[in-house]
Amino acid sequence: MSREKSHEIFTRAQQLMPGGVNSPARAFGAVGGEPLVFANAQGAYLYDVDGNRYIDYIGSWGPMILGHRHPKVDEAIRDAVGRGTSFGAPTEAENKLAELIIEAVPSVEKVRLVNSGTEATMSAIRLARGYTGRDIIVKFAGNYHGHVDSLLVAAGSAAATLAVPDSPGVTAGTSADTLVLKYNDVGGVKAAFDEHGSRIAGVILEPVVGNMGCVIPTQEFLQTLRAVTQQSGAVLIFDEVMTGFRVAFGGAQSLFGVTPDLTTLGKIVGGGMPIGAYGGKAEIMDNILPAGKVFQAGTLSGNPVATASGIATLKALRDDSPYERLEELGARLAAGLDSAAGDAGIPHTLTRVGSMMTLFFNPDPVTDWDVAAKCDKERFAKYFWGLIDSGVYMPCSQYEALFVSAAHSEEDIDATIDAAREVLGGLA
Ligand SMILES: *Cc1c(COP(=O)(O)O)cnc(C)c1O
Repeated sequence: MSREKSHEIFTRAQQLMPGGVNSPARAFGAVGGEPLVFANAQGAYLYDVDGNRYIDYIGSWGPMILGHRHPKVDEAIRDAVGRGTSFGAPTEAENKLAELIIEAVPSVEKVRLVNSGTEATMSAIRLARGYTGRDIIVKFAGNYHGHVDSLLVAAGSAAATLAVPDSPGVTAGTSADTLVLKYNDVGGVKAAFDEHGSRIAGVILEPVVGNMGCVIPTQEFLQTLRAVTQQSGAVLIFDEVMTGFRVAFGGAQSLFGVTPDLTTLGKIVGGGMPIGAYGGKAEIMDNILPAGKVFQAGTLSGNPVATASGIATLKALRDDSPYERLEELGARLAAGLDSAAGDAGIPHTLTRVGSMMTLFFNPDPVTDWDVAAKCDKERFAKYFWGLIDSGVYMPCSQYEALFVSAAHSEEDIDATIDAAREVLGGLA
């Protein structure tokens, strides 16, 4: 398997762009070596510039739940391009996408379209602050909400202390209004609300975590968050940029039966084009300009081509539901990877919700970042490269969930399990 052309292109890219990439997640930083450069994709497969084929378990980090180049999505995009790529003015298509989102996601009565998941979370926390007139935002260690300044923070030294910046360029002043707690820690949540409750504007979380690997919330954790935010008048924000339309058509909130005040969306909602969205109770959403006073705007928001892609994707998911099949394929892959690691004698845990999952190289149940951080990352890097050499493209970090798409076949899944068995057998 040659990767010569990838190497040439990436070498040039490093002179042109910081680290040779436009987003760090794709730089293979956690596994070493150079990223592959891709030329095209179809269904469950990616093809690199050297002509190698890979079974794709990244799906562009989530959006491609229908697989690449789904015929209806392709057609909708082409059709929209033929009518003009941007008007900066209202279109009927925006109503259609808004209707689809509102129908699907239990908490959403009104919605605003933006251009990325980051924009959605940034706007939602501004709205939570503007609506409550309070400053503090609570987040959880290991959860990722895009590169929003006030969410790029790490926990301070003591539990339930105010946060410290997690990136140069984030000011101490910005991070001082963020409180970082431990995921699934009910006691920590109650203590934080006892101490700071009247100053907390909102709580933001991944209702199933994808960004420290797949980590599942307890029902008690979600219900506690719902109860304490309701009591204290804080806004509960589910960041469903990854889980929305992934773990269920209505997102994690429909799966767990806990309804937040605001929801952020991205990834699948654009079907592979740049869209984010935030929505929730009309009473809160109507605080956004021009209905209300909280400023938020976007030149390309509701872009007709991206909107068409989102509409076609959500309609396909609604009318031709793949969720049962995704559950079956997910269960099949999970069982195969679990037994392959077990037979190889490798300490591991596998977590899964539907079509998202992570094989953690750590024997302990992964419920929060402290446990996740103890995984064997060297073994993961070898596992990753072994699979690449077998034509399987997995997330290039222990801390990213993998995704199965509706375009994967049983044969793809079984070929992946065989490859993993081979690779893991050599890693004990
Ligand atoms: C990907 C992601 C984001 C950021 O979305 P971008 O479109 O990359 O800005 C935010 N929150 C979660 C949960 C995500 O998975």
